[in-house]
Amino acid sequence: MLGLMQSQQLLISSLIDFAERHHGEGEIVSRRVEGDIHRCTYRDIAKRSRKVANALAGLHLAFGDRVATLAWNGYRHLELYFGVSGSGQVLHTLNPRLHPDQVVWIANHSEDQVLCFDMTFLPIVKAVHARCTTIKHYIALCDADQLPADTGIPGLQSYEAWIAKQPESFTWPEFDENSASSMCYTSGTTGNPKAALYSHRSTILHAWAGAMPDALNMSARDSVLPVVPMFHVNAWGLPYSAAMTGAKMVFPGPAMDGKSIYDLIENEKVTFAAGVPTVWQMLLGHMQQGSLRFSTLKRTVIGGSACPPAMITSFNDLYGVEVLHAWGMTEMSPLGTVCTLKNKHAGMDSTQKMAVRMKQGRGIYGVDMKIVDESGAELPWDGKAFGDLLVKGPWVIKEYYKGEGGSPLVNGWFPTGDVATIDPDGYMQITDRSKDVIKSGGEWISSIDVENIAMAHPAVAMAACVGMKHPKWDERPIVVVVKKPGAEVSRQELLAFFDGKTAKWQIPDDVVFVDAIPLGATGKMQKTKLRETLKDYQLPTL
Ligand code: ADP
Repeated sequence: MLGLMQSQQLLISSLIDFAERHHGEGEIVSRRVEGDIHRCTYRDIAKRSRKVANALAGLHLAFGDRVATLAWNGYRHLELYFGVSGSGQVLHTLNPRLHPDQVVWIANHSEDQVLCFDMTFLPIVKAVHARCTTIKHYIALCDADQLPADTGIPGLQSYEAWIAKQPESFTWPEFDENSASSMCYTSGTTGNPKAALYSHRSTILHAWAGAMPDALNMSARDSVLPVVPMFHVNAWGLPYSAAMTGAKMVFPGPAMDGKSIYDLIENEKVTFAAGVPTVWQMLLGHMQQGSLRFSTLKRTVIGGSACPPAMITSFNDLYGVEVLHAWGMTEMSPLGTVCTLKNKHAGMDSTQKMAVRMKQGRGIYGVDMKIVDESGAELPWDGKAFGDLLVKGPWVIKEYYKGEGGSPLVNGWFPTGDVATIDPDGYMQITDRSKDVIKSGGEWISSIDVENIAMAHPAVAMAACVGMKHPKWDERPIVVVVKKPGAEVSRQELLAFFDGKTAKWQIPDDVVFVDAIPLGATGKMQKTKLRETLKDYQLPTL
């Protein structure tokens, strides 16, 4: 017997309809490429998304055609999120930090038909357009009078002119919720980039689960600052969760430096911010230099790479901001786990709580996970056994776009490429990416553990631990360190800092000081590049 409830497709257009009707006055604030602060409301975004839909209809695209963006976080990008997906086209958020050759490769692979770009990226578009074989329409996200005369880009028009002449009314089409809504290529640390193709259903379910109290805890009382880019896994779904809850949105545009982010947090009374550790490092540096305080910020979700415990402590102890350590990946839309405490932790002291908080967190409803050994047998949730982490759920990838790389699933589970432990309370902790794990004398050393200890030293701004070939032990860890400006620490002092904090054989053999550690397009340390720069490095003979 079937249930007798209404059947309604879960479509992205319903989010902006809801936000317009129930939170029409809700604010959307953007720092623009133009440099100023722009203010509008969900009502404006809704109207302009419908104008986008009408403008797209005029381009006579097919259902499911890809519309690409090369854009910062801002209101126009948000309008494209709703306008493109809502019309039945697929929003393809290109990552502007990639090399132009990769942008060309990806745009051709996804067969983008339209490219909407911020003026910051005009030089990239000029450099690549002749090689992007499928793009027929170029739209610059600016006013008509800001469009330079001779760009050489065929048919280029300004976004504002493109939508100005369009009517504000548009009836969003109804279609199967399993239709593709947006796509995002993985960074391609191994082989060519591959795309995760999200559906309307997966996006809505992910946004719903992401907004829940034990996940990101979003509400109409929040002012949300996604520093995580809208071109990387849909800014962790925040634009959708915000529309679903009516939260105020604050977009940083291109300005990610500590001062710009701090000013935005204070001026816009931001309560919740999201970003990767490298960005928060800049913010904390700015706070410390100016002895600043936050007056409204309550919590921040940090993920994308392991959040050093020292960062969690700084936010919590110095600034009274709760850190939600989170883990996920492009293939998971991206949320997998978020670290929030349970009832049983309430009475614990701060050291005990910290031991929980530094883990990557508990699975949220919708994501099932397990750890397995080399034979694929499931390992116990005892907080000690570590193995390959596998996940499944309605917003986890089934296969990559165009079937690239074959079927990634193992008996219905997606192997994440991460190695982890899970404790009896369900808290997962990433030990490493499987390719970064250091194998020393038949034992494994977690590069994340080594980095976390190094990062706790007051003179260390950034630390990367890599394994170096060793004649006896197979590999030994070394730690590559960037010092904080004006701070000093010697090799011996830093190595001594590890004493008592980890087993002796897990202490790195050497410290290499560098000016900068290479970061990838999503702000993560690029260990492959780092290893290349260290190819002539010799381990000290101990
Ligand atoms: P890509 O897979 O293309 O590098 P993603 O952003 O999808 O880009 O990266 C996902 C990976 O990032 C995860 O598999 C994991 O290795 C790492 N990661 C994400 N969040 C965390 C975290 N909180 N702690 C440790 N590693 C993390």
